[in-house]
Amino acid sequence: MGDVAALPTAKTGAAIRKQAPVVVDNILKLLAHKPADNKSYDGYSSCPLVTGYGKMTLAEFNYKIEFTPDPMLKFMLVFNSYKEHWRLWLLKKYMLPYMYWNKMMKGKM
Ligand SMILES: Cc1cc2nc3c(=O)[nH]c(=O)nc-3n(C[C@H](O)[C@H](O)[C@H](O)COP(=O)(O)OP(=O)(O)OC[C@H]3O[C@@H](n4cnc5c(N)ncnc54)[C@H](O)[C@@H]3O)c2cc1C
Repeated sequence: MGDVAALPTAKTGAAIRKQAPVVVDNILKLLAHKPADNKSYDGYSSCPLVTGYGKMTLAEFNYKIEFTPDPMLKFMLVFNSYKEHWRLWLLKKYMLPYMYWNKMMKGKM
């Protein structure tokens, strides 16, 4: 998984966050002598595009280049991540670093 996987989607940390649970699930299945049949990763990736000071949009898509918003964004009251929003800018500047070090790197998210 990650950049080295060379999947036909954008190489991002956001993609890895969605790939990791699938890989872990499949490894656990293999260890339990079951088929590694979790194919739920849909190519999700997202690219933050800072469009100005205090403004950002998030390009979120899957293998088919369909808009696939992360459901977690609803908790930030962001319903159209493809539109510029100051809350997305706050996500990039403050929340993502916190999520990265405290949640993603510890396997909690
Ligand atoms: C400028 C920039 C901005 C980005 N912004 C974002 C963003 O805003 N949001 C987002 O989600 N993603 C972003 N990304 C993408 C994200 O950083 C990568 O997709 C992610 O870091 C890939 O993680 P990885 O673990 O697969 O690979 P890497 O992070 O590249 O890790 C691979 C590791 O393997 C090590 N390595 C290589 N060869 C060997 C070897 N022979 N022996 C031992 N170790 C080795 C490398 O030193 C490296 O530490 C950005 C990338 C760049 C370059």
